[in-house]
Amino acid sequence: MPATPPKAALPPPWIDERSARAQIAEVAREIYGRKLSGATDGNLSVRVGADRVVTTPSGVHKGRLTPERMVVVDLQGRVVGRPAAGADGKALKPSSELALHLAAYRARPDVGAVIHAHPPNAIAYTLAGGQLSETLVSEVVFACGQIATAPYTTPTTQQVPAMLAEYLRCYDVVMMLRHGSVTVGRDLDSALARLDALEHTAGIYCMVRMLGGAAPIAPAEVDRLFDLAHPQPPPYRTPGTGCPPPEAPAEADAALVAAVLRALGARS
Ligand SMILES: [Zn+2]
Repeated sequence: MPATPPKAALPPPWIDERSARAQIAEVAREIYGRKLSGATDGNLSVRVGADRVVTTPSGVHKGRLTPERMVVVDLQGRVVGRPAAGADGKALKPSSELALHLAAYRARPDVGAVIHAHPPNAIAYTLAGGQLSETLVSEVVFACGQIATAPYTTPTTQQVPAMLAEYLRCYDVVMMLRHGSVTVGRDLDSALARLDALEHTAGIYCMVRMLGGAAPIAPAEVDRLFDLAHPQPPPYRTPGTGCPPPEAPAEADAALVAAVLRALGARS
């Protein structure tokens, strides 16, 4: 078994539930407005205590979210308290991808907020076979650290949290192939800043590809950038931590596409 990575394990100062509700509503609207996710796609959460998480409800348009329309759960995913009613009068349920958020909180006590989004440039670049783990520009090292791309798993199934737990143990920014991103942070602002930097960087990488490509920064300079940006080496730069490699795994076959279509059909 790999050793436990030396990630800072101290929990962040948790904010109160009322503030978390307001912050999530504001950031959700921003994510929708900036097209980092469409309509009801994606989900956000903030940890407000040792066993409490405030999260976005399932099926509610991210541009229309209000602080009252959140769901509070414990770390097992059980709804706590009386949930608000949706537009149809029925009680709101947590997102179908809640398990992904809970996996992050279980894997990383230092994480206070999680954002799952569908950033189009980042999805397109990885779909086209690009490696976001490459360092073509220096700033990404400061904003995101190492971007990792995880294999495809069927959305809403237990495959997603099981696979992501391994990645989030090590990385703050993870792309899920053919699906979307997961960014974590001590608070919602830092998780949003990482999502922002991921998508901005992917946009540049897409343009570079269209212009004919570019060489990555030399490995010695990448090491220097990581030393400057992360004086305490993160797990993925620490030997013996057993972190999965950041490169996107090779894939793409008919069975995979069929699995995606089945999953989408099952949710419609
Ligand atoms: Zn998703």
